[in-house]
Amino acid sequence: MAETVTNWAGNITFAATELHRPPTLDALCSLVAGSTRVRVLGSGHSFNEIAAPDADGVLLSLDALPVDIDVDTTARTVRVGGGVRYAELARRVHAHGLALPNMASLPHISVAGSVATGTHGSGVRNGSLAAAVREVEIVTAPGTPGVMGRDDKRFGGVVTSLGALGVVTALTLDLEPAFEVEQHVFTELPLDGLDFETVAGAAYSVSLFTDWRAPGFRQVWLKRRTDQPLADFPWAEPATEALHPVPGMPAVNCTEQFGVPGPWHERLPHFRAEFTPSSGNELQSEYLLPRGHAVDALHAIDGIRETVAGVLQTCEVRTVAADEQWLSPAYGRDSVALHFTWVADTEAVLPVVRELESVLEPFAPRPHWGKVFAMPAEVVRGRYPRIDDFRALVRQVDPSGTFTNAFLTDVLGLTR
Ligand SMILES: Cc1cc2nc3c(=O)[nH]c(=O)nc-3n(C[C@H](O)[C@H](O)[C@H](O)COP(=O)(O)OP(=O)(O)OC[C@H]3O[C@@H](n4cnc5c(N)ncnc54)[C@H](O)[C@@H]3O)c2cc1C
Repeated sequence: MAETVTNWAGNITFAATELHRPPTLDALCSLVAGSTRVRVLGSGHSFNEIAAPDADGVLLSLDALPVDIDVDTTARTVRVGGGVRYAELARRVHAHGLALPNMASLPHISVAGSVATGTHGSGVRNGSLAAAVREVEIVTAPGTPGVMGRDDKRFGGVVTSLGALGVVTALTLDLEPAFEVEQHVFTELPLDGLDFETVAGAAYSVSLFTDWRAPGFRQVWLKRRTDQPLADFPWAEPATEALHPVPGMPAVNCTEQFGVPGPWHERLPHFRAEFTPSSGNELQSEYLLPRGHAVDALHAIDGIRETVAGVLQTCEVRTVAADEQWLSPAYGRDSVALHFTWVADTEAVLPVVRELESVLEPFAPRPHWGKVFAMPAEVVRGRYPRIDDFRALVRQVDPSGTFTNAFLTDVLGLTR
């Protein structure tokens, strides 16, 4: 029966009128073998057409496959199925006394879809979520399963692959012993005189939030591991009530604050698994640029503050340590990530996105692959020193372009 399939935000309606949900790996391989164009949908949390199949393409979901989570407590690894979301994975890993090194702002997203786009949390020493991946199991065209691990010289292109190589059916991730985190929220941090390195390094994971209606940051969230010292934070006042990063939204949706210690997976995300994350009615954009440019870039945004504020719900500033995935927006650069939760109005938001990109241009920003951006494809490509290696990998692994769509053809400059 024909169905309308959209992304989480509802701003993209996919051309496919059926979402194929194979119940077994064999059924998945047969579907791929019998299709000339395939796109995989994770949990659908991207805001652009990255997951959209072309008009003649098949859209595939892994959510009918059995939830596969195998923790190896000796090796401190977990093998996780391609359709599993972080909320379920984190609960199972924690039950074994182990932890993932970091999480994004929400646990609702699929692991495979997140690492495919370079999704990240925050922390000057924390890489993107892809940095934890040690092995990828992938069904390539024409329906053949294979495995690629860190010892493969192509591995740098395999994890943050934008879904261009095949269907990721399982990933093996590094784990560490479970840890506890306290969340401390502060208010009103000035932009003038901001020592970004010190502020961003004041805890394991730090986020600054602003609505750009006035200079400076309305909130600072420090996520401190209880096995690490608590740094002084003299630049802002402790919050007196629990806060949501989007003004006007209920704090009950957010993970516990006021320094109450809790397990890593109930503090590292901002939003609780059982509630709607963020505002739920929004578009998002994000740009990663070298961390040393953070203060200059923030002043550049301050220069167009009123324009940005006009369509903004909240802006979040995080850090991501350099990683080695060729297409990771943090590839080779310790990065600051400048995130924007916009109102849900593409027509009103796009001109502001263009203006924002033009003031950030001197800092060589790389857009988040899963969010709204307007930069020309050749500019995006020019920001990735290993782009030609990635394109060669796509030609080698998927010579028929089965897993390519219009978004990838454009942004990667691929030919069919
Ligand atoms: C409310 C909200 C908060 C967010 N917070 C953050 C954040 O804190 N940090 C951050 O960096 N990003 C954040 N994002 C962005 C989000 O993490 C990315 O868009 C991510 O890709 C979502 O994963 P997904 O499974 O929904 O991917 P989808 O959007 O479903 O797919 C993304 C890409 O992955 C591919 N893919 C998915 N599964 C597979 C598979 N099994 N095999 C092969 N390819 C696959 C798809 O084809 C597509 O190319 C947020 C998004 C939302 C909506």
